[in-house]
Amino acid sequence: MKIGFIGLGIMGKPMARNLMKAGHTVIVYDIVKENTEVMVEEGASERNSAREVAEECKVIITVLPNSPHVRAAVMGKNGVLEGASAGSILIDMSSIAPQVSKEISEACEKQGIEMLDAPVSGGEPKAIDGTLSIMVGGKEEVFKQVYDILMAMGGSAVYCGEIGAGNTTKLANQIIVALNIAAVSEAFMLSTKAGVDPDKVFNAIKGGLAGSTVMNAKIPMIMERNFKPGFKIDLHIKDLNNALDTGHEIGVPLPLTANVMEMLQKLHADGHGQEDHSAIAKYYEKIADVCVESER
Ligand code: NAD
Repeated sequence: MKIGFIGLGIMGKPMARNLMKAGHTVIVYDIVKENTEVMVEEGASERNSAREVAEECKVIITVLPNSPHVRAAVMGKNGVLEGASAGSILIDMSSIAPQVSKEISEACEKQGIEMLDAPVSGGEPKAIDGTLSIMVGGKEEVFKQVYDILMAMGGSAVYCGEIGAGNTTKLANQIIVALNIAAVSEAFMLSTKAGVDPDKVFNAIKGGLAGSTVMNAKIPMIMERNFKPGFKIDLHIKDLNNALDTGHEIGVPLPLTANVMEMLQKLHADGHGQEDHSAIAKYYEKIADVCVESER
């Protein structure tokens, strides 16, 4: 099948590659030319705008940073809605505010275009392996129609409810991940300052109740001082902002999220915004004047 793919960053490139591996023809567009060129070398075709992609493809996937980028690529000048015809399906796999998914879906509906919000979890490694966890909102029959396409990129695709439900689920995911990294960083700051090798602490506790996918992924990075993203601090600020806004709109306080948000703001101000979110450890390291580095 011919699939349009808009947004070829850290996540978009490997996701588009997996669609090609599954035998689909992929037509790509990104505002950064080098990103499309890489994909063209690997067999994709490139177009000059989201509109041109949508003119040719009945299924269009977007993987963009945040709500304004998706609004621009879909509803803006030379956007998807200028090119797509009735019956097309837009699958937005970006992590954006659930209320913006609803707004974009309403604009799509006016032209007879179906939309799903289908953000992902698992980061770059799982995007490469094609084992992302995909959480989906929209009409269930549309979800069923594109299930095989989603499963070319994911290890699971779960229908969560009406439009916006995918991104609401993703906000829950992002709160859990951010708070987990902060908890792990706080704990390792303490044990390192107290003189215990972090490598020993990791090996001693990873099989117990404190063990987590987050700890397994992030503590080795922290101990090796490898903060190459991965998932950038600035993107996590975006997600926690969306979580706090959504919480405030429905009258739900998010006290722990607000705390970690301030840590991320401090890291951004100190110039760490483009580093992996495992750099939350640096916030704690600065307070305690310690470095969570393995003695190995
Ligand atoms: P990224 O910044 O690496 O890539 C975004 C791409 O979108 C860039 O190539 C950029 O040039 C392009 N872009 C921006 N505006 C555009 C427009 N109007 N038209 C066309 N292209 C445009 O970001 P990423 O890490 O790939 O993340 C993408 C989305 O996936 C985000 O919402 C992020 O929160 C989510 N996500 C990321 C990860 C991760 O580990 N990186 C994990 C899960 C979810």
